[in-house]
Amino acid sequence: MSILELITGSMSCGKTEEMLRRIHNEQKARKKVRIFKPVIDGCYSVSTASSHNRSEFSAISVVETRDIYKHLVPSVEVVGIAEVQFLDDKIIDFCLEQIAQGRKVIASGINLDFRGEPFHFRNSQRHIGDLMVYAVTQTLRARCVYQVKKYRSRKTINCDAEADYTQRLIDGKLAPYDSPTILVGSKKSDSSKVEYEARCARHFERPKPPKK
Ligand SMILES: [Zn+2]
Repeated sequence: MSILELITGSMSCGKTEEMLRRIHNEQKARKKVRIFKPVIDGCYSVSTASSHNRSEFSAISVVETRDIYKHLVPSVEVVGIAEVQFLDDKIIDFCLEQIAQGRKVIASGINLDFRGEPFHFRNSQRHIGDLMVYAVTQTLRARCVYQVKKYRSRKTINCDAEADYTQRLIDGKLAPYDSPTILVGSKKSDSSKVEYEARCARHFERPKPPKK
């Protein structure tokens, strides 16, 4: 007990699944758990959060860190937090307080934004790296989906190398550097199509910052 566990990595690296696996183990050990997720993540339903492989779990939707306190009854022993990067930076103090009180916190979240820079908490200069220094961290890796030519063929296949980056594409083109940090992937948001791809270091294209 009394530990902050952080599971991080790019989009679709399996971090939510890993958090759920650990939460299930806590439940098997008869620990009382509560799972939270920020509502800003519009990809997911409100009452349950689902990971990319569709395992569902009950999570309490919160808008900001303050809301988590409201739902924490004293008997809770383990706190799970999905998509932690979408919260405000008060989540750092929250996690430290919880472990000081003897609770276990298991959080998962993306470490790098679509620019390949640390994912900042909402309206803050602080980022998930500021949480990492207090945590026992596991960084998971996805597989690069960049299309490469198949050997001696006209067909293309996934690169499939280990991917640590999340590429944002808007209408199939590289998202500009000043695109908002949080932009939910969708088939039709207004008129443009926002997609995310896991990319390896070789195939991740870093958006160029605007010249000052
Ligand atoms: Zn690649």
